[in-house]
Amino acid sequence: KDGLTGVFNHRYFHDKLKEKVALSQKYNQPISMIFVDIDYFKHYNDLNGHQMGDEVLRTIGKILRDNLRENDISARYGGEEFAIILPDTSEDDAVIIADQIRSIIENTKFYGEENQPNGVLTVSMGISVYPYKAKDDVTLIKSADDALYRAKFFMKNRVETYTSILDEIKQDIEEKDIELVASIKTLISVINAKDRYTYGHSERVVLYS
Ligand code: GH3
Ligand code: MG
Ligand code: MG
Repeated sequence: KDGLTGVFNHRYFHDKLKEKVALSQKYNQPISMIFVDIDYFKHYNDLNGHQMGDEVLRTIGKILRDNLRENDISARYGGEEFAIILPDTSEDDAVIIADQIRSIIENTKFYGEENQPNGVLTVSMGISVYPYKAKDDVTLIKSADDALYRAKFFMKNRVETYTSILDEIKQDIEEKDIELVASIKTLISVINAKDRYTYGHSERVVLYS
């Protein structure tokens, strides 16, 4: 467990995820993943101090523990980032669960939140689902994190799911051209590693084309 927030720690999260992916493969069930990041948290700490910031982390940890189902696993992934594993849960259900929690946090009163850029303390969330959008545990984390970045980009305080226009194109393309799409995807991943804005831009150009 994480001492501050009472949710599971990073190490436990990775161990459990591997275990759940193996089970999900065996029983042919999906796993959804939600990544949560507090909006403008540096700003909050700067104005209210790290101790009040820690209090926010503690409260959010409690909201996660109180509002998830018995088999869901919530963990503190990093400093102010949480990750939630939802076993046997479709992406559509994960969106509903995530948005409920997002809304509870938005409506919870936090000390000093009126000085946040939007006048309220909020979180952004990204969702992905195994095996439909990610082939293993590592890609599941990465795609949920990509979706989180998209949520931050679109004004924060929102839930976004992972989408890749290239993955969609792949589904109705001729066999002989699949490799071409894979090469383009590799190139775009290189761009993504260096500059995520350009990655999103490339995807949008493909979509419009
Ligand atoms: P964004 O809306 O883009 O998420 O902006 P942000 O300021 O929240 O930026 P980021 O997600 O990179 O958050 C990093 C900040 O989180 C830095 C630090 O002030 C704060 N933080 C990280 N870990 C802790 C912690 O354990 N306690 C406290 N109080 N603050 C933490
Ligand atoms: Mg962060
Ligand atoms: Mg943040």
